[in-house]
Amino acid sequence: MRIILIGPPGAGKGTQCQRLIELLKVPHLSTGEMLRAEVRDRTPAGLEAATYMDQGQLVPDQLIVGMVNRRLQASDCRGGCLLDGFPRTLPQAEILDDLLERRAMCVDGVIELAVPRDELVRRMLARKREDDDPEIFANRIASFEVQTAPLLDYYSRQGKLASIDGLGTADEIFERVQTAVKRFARAARGL
Ligand code: AMP
Repeated sequence: MRIILIGPPGAGKGTQCQRLIELLKVPHLSTGEMLRAEVRDRTPAGLEAATYMDQGQLVPDQLIVGMVNRRLQASDCRGGCLLDGFPRTLPQAEILDDLLERRAMCVDGVIELAVPRDELVRRMLARKREDDDPEIFANRIASFEVQTAPLLDYYSRQGKLASIDGLGTADEIFERVQTAVKRFARAARGL
């Protein structure tokens, strides 16, 4: 299955992705991770991407799409994958549909980890990581609300969205994630 996990910064996507890839035995495609690797390797794409990432802004689509497309073509993605951090905008969602359609594939389901803004800020302050500069964090939340939230509507209209309460323990949240995955599996079998 091809599943997308969507959530604002600080929603706990990392933990749930880790558990989900173990459950589904599919590769984890995180564009944030791919970009950080490019930055570490100081590739031209990485150097360009860093100027946006440092500000908490989205990197231009042309830097992302080729990277994702190459990854989707790899043989380990044939049986499915977990997409994390992509798509992040409506144009990216349309591009993804197009890339998959060309290979007779589709997105099977989208999980939204819903966490109220106040709670995200509270978590960020409690965590105080180096990259959690309050201003940059605010930019990342704003970019989620303006550019990524419209995706929820896009997938909801296709009947593919499962919105999950992102409050609670990691175990409780994972229970909800598993319920959503079972629903996607039934839908994929046409039940
Ligand atoms: P993440 O680890 O998913 O939060 O991504 C870290 C940063 O990488 C984001 O704040 C963006 O600057 C950039 N990024 C990751 N995925 C995308 C994407 N799909 N489109 C644009 N920028 C992205």
